Amino acid sequence: MGFSTDCIHAGQEPEPVTGAVTYPIFQTSTYVQPELGRHKGFEYARTKNPTRSVLEANLAALERGKHAHCFASGMSATDTVFRMLKSGDHVVAGENMYGGSFRLFNKVCEKFGLQFTYVDTACVNKVRAALRPNTKIVFLETPTNPMMTVTDIAACAKVAHENDSLVVVDNTFCSPWLQQPLELGADIVVHSTTKFLNGHSDSVGGVVITNDDAIAEQIGFLQNAVGAILSPMDSWLILRGVKTLAVRMKQHEENGRAMADYLSRQPKALKTYYPGLPDHPQHELAKRQMRGFGAMISFELGSLANAKKFLDRVRLCSLGESLGGVETLISHPESMTHASVPVETRTRLGITPGLVRISVGIEDVEDLIADVHQAFAAV
Ligand SMILES: *Cc1c(COP(=O)(O)O)cnc(C)c1O
Repeated sequence: MGFSTDCIHAGQEPEPVTGAVTYPIFQTSTYVQPELGRHKGFEYARTKNPTRSVLEANLAALERGKHAHCFASGMSATDTVFRMLKSGDHVVAGENMYGGSFRLFNKVCEKFGLQFTYVDTACVNKVRAALRPNTKIVFLETPTNPMMTVTDIAACAKVAHENDSLVVVDNTFCSPWLQQPLELGADIVVHSTTKFLNGHSDSVGGVVITNDDAIAEQIGFLQNAVGAILSPMDSWLILRGVKTLAVRMKQHEENGRAMADYLSRQPKALKTYYPGLPDHPQHELAKRQMRGFGAMISFELGSLANAKKFLDRVRLCSLGESLGGVETLISHPESMTHASVPVETRTRLGITPGLVRISVGIEDVEDLIADVHQAFAAV
């Protein structure tokens, strides 16, 4: 089936008891067992919940994976992947990624003896050079947050697999509509469903997806053992959100391109970072690897004072953390999402005090551009 059909139908048979078209919220903690030693596939709701199972089947299908496990947040999804490792194992990760992932690795995982090397994963030779005999995972985010650098997933998977390392891709910025990492050779995909997958800024969640039965078994074991599960209500909200993923992404894409085009011609935006612009260093790779260029754009205003004036002046665009919702969200990575990244690293990567990130929503793009245009007048 096609992607839009899968968004609406994959994993979702009408509910068997009543025929309800919309799969219900099974708000229960446990299930009655008809007799000792026999149950209907559900024993306790941390282990399995029907609403969550339906969402897991749906998200697995969208990423062209066999197995999915849903978690209480994107961070708990990533955390659970790293709990497959043990003290002394090594990880190669992107030097520019979501600040919360860096904080998890640097402040939590390292305490338990995991070792991390951070490299510019856009350069596959740097990934190869960082691999060690004990490298268990290569962790990629592409395009990166917020610098929009694109990594060649297939090339990295090839060098990682030669070293028997697993490739994990955080696909939050793209959603499976724009990019399907498992098809490119990745072993595991993680998402913050909070962003494009749910798309309505009303739920926090995460998912781990894989084609590998043994990995799925470990993740399922950890999901039950550690327990950071997604609630039935959130599972239902995400199922509802995903039904419109394809149509939302088409509009995000169209609006993202129009906004990037405006910004690239606005002289007060000193630099615009968007993989769809022909001067983006990995524009050709993005064209090959992604179905479009998405709705995430960063741009440089030159100073904190300019960024503050701009952000205080926008009216339709909402100043806030997060991304991927139907509404346009605008943020200041240096002080918001990336505050936990050391200042030297931020400066080297280009996360300057004047950098602004925009998650272009699906409003009328003329209204969005008019809002941004009037805010530039303050700069
Ligand atoms: C938001 C985000 C996360 C973390 O997800 P939560 O649902 O907020 O825990 C991880 N990676 C990326 C790229 C994100 O944007």
